[in-house]
Amino acid sequence: MNGNNFADAGSSFDEAAFVLYGVPFDGTSSFRAGSKWAPREMRKASYNFETYNGDLDVNLCDVPVHDMGDCEVYSNVDDTLDVVYDVASRIVKAGKIPIMMGGEHSLTYPCVKAYKGKIGVVVMDAHYDLREEYGGLKNNHACVSRHIIEDITDKYVSIGIRSGTKEEYEYVKDNKKIRAYSADDVYSKGIEAILREAGAYMKGCDRVYVSLDMDAIDPAYAPGLGTPEPFGITARDVRSVIRYFAPKAAGFDVVEISPEYDHGTAALLGAKLIRDFIAAKWKSMHAKKV
Ligand code: MN
Ligand code: MN
Repeated sequence: MNGNNFADAGSSFDEAAFVLYGVPFDGTSSFRAGSKWAPREMRKASYNFETYNGDLDVNLCDVPVHDMGDCEVYSNVDDTLDVVYDVASRIVKAGKIPIMMGGEHSLTYPCVKAYKGKIGVVVMDAHYDLREEYGGLKNNHACVSRHIIEDITDKYVSIGIRSGTKEEYEYVKDNKKIRAYSADDVYSKGIEAILREAGAYMKGCDRVYVSLDMDAIDPAYAPGLGTPEPFGITARDVRSVIRYFAPKAAGFDVVEISPEYDHGTAALLGAKLIRDFIAAKWKSMHAKKV
């Protein structure tokens, strides 16, 4: 583990409620590689912000957050996923909330697998990522949701979708585990209505894992992406999803930022959303019972 800390992440592992770590891996990226630079760029960008979150009335310097640095990665995706599984499992077993900074989206699979027992999954993404394999690899970034649905969870929500193969669209129609909301659904109904529906679907889940593939967001807000897709949801929509699910969230990740393709805009937004997740989760953990 190495790398400079994320801002306001000065706690030790033992004291921390939240544990951040980076995974600088983009080995299966199909269009624009470079997400391996995103943990470093998000850490840098994190120093831009005030420690106080005025919307949520949380001072991040009061929240115990530990930054483990970056995981060791291998050129082979499966070996890298094994490392991520070990790190995520250690954090989950210690009763802390892991926050993974990717890297590419394939890294989410071991993060979700690290929980024992039932867990709902909320993925924000432009893409279904429901292929069985891609480029000869089962653990390609384009397949991550398929394996999460088939191997791990029985409640899966996706928000922001606007890209997939005909087979992926048909798979969603036939699969009762999946509630998929397109970016156009969010645009026409509004994110609050979508969250009410998605929240009702997730009602039976005590905990959820939230994964943010940054390309859910319109490339106008976040140009530096591995596979940018126009007509996306807004940065504010994503923040609403994070705040809505924070009380149940047992883990979070931000993946697929490719910082070389913009001037730090996507990494800045990624860092801000991580800080917002921490503040929203902390607030829900300490909400006064009325
Ligand atoms: Mn994805
Ligand atoms: Mn995507």
